[in-house]
Amino acid sequence: MVELELIEAVKAALGPQPARVLTGPGDDASVVRADAVLATSTDTVVDGVHFSLATHSPADVGHKALATALSDIAAMGAGPGEAYVALVMPPEFTGALELVGGMRELAGRHGVALAGGDVVSGPVLAVTVTVTGWSGAADRLAYRSGARPGDLLGVTGELGGSGAGLKLLNAGESQPDALVRRHRRPEPLLATGLALAAAGVTAMIDVSDGVATDAGHLARASGVVLEVRLADLPVADGVESAEFAATAGDDYELMFTAPPERRAAIEQAAIATGTRVSWLGDVRAGGGLVEIRGPDGAPVDLRGYEHLR
Ligand SMILES: [Mg+2]
Repeated sequence: MVELELIEAVKAALGPQPARVLTGPGDDASVVRADAVLATSTDTVVDGVHFSLATHSPADVGHKALATALSDIAAMGAGPGEAYVALVMPPEFTGALELVGGMRELAGRHGVALAGGDVVSGPVLAVTVTVTGWSGAADRLAYRSGARPGDLLGVTGELGGSGAGLKLLNAGESQPDALVRRHRRPEPLLATGLALAAAGVTAMIDVSDGVATDAGHLARASGVVLEVRLADLPVADGVESAEFAATAGDDYELMFTAPPERRAAIEQAAIATGTRVSWLGDVRAGGGLVEIRGPDGAPVDLRGYEHLR
């Protein structure tokens, strides 16, 4: 299929757009009715670097490329916006419509519009997704810099499942399905991020590189010490250890800080959006550090821990 035909086929496959999209694909630019502030994030994934077509279907690739981008919007506490997709495809790749289908299915479930994009040929499959999220005011968003001494550290869902799934795929296995699916089809927590921001989190980040690394981003941006208790980490079923769960990436859960008096409201917000919260640490005054403690309270150094990224 030549590029113009493919673009027409993609447009036809997209179906009707949400009302805020005034002009989607088909004009020189998309036109969208704006809310007060816009959060924007871009992610690129490349075959052989971020995924492998040997273990991911084109629909998996489309889903994952959009899901990982939307996870950053979730971590800001912004509402669903638009996705703009640039596809670089080698001539022998025939899965473009399936790839877009995987994106469309995910976008539709979260109220995200696929509002524009581009398709070009190139040496290897690469997908760049730019996503937007809308908010009524800048101070309703959750930044990495807001954690304060005395806050609690929380995380949604369960950790380590995606890393365990990748390990299975790399070993040529595709069971148990729950772990493999967790790796191939991560779910961005858009509704949860919005609800947590409204419930009073002070800082938030999505767990893309593992709790140990992402807690470091929060601690540095906020200028605090984050104390993480390994024993309180929510380890997914089938994951070998809390150390693995703390260092394996791609879980796309949300990690956040909040003052103790918001604890019940935040737990409610998570439950109302289909997940749960584990309180795995505390925020102390200090200079941008993470301290990880084992079950006996002794410091644990995870820097040397072997993981898969
Ligand atoms: Mg992120």
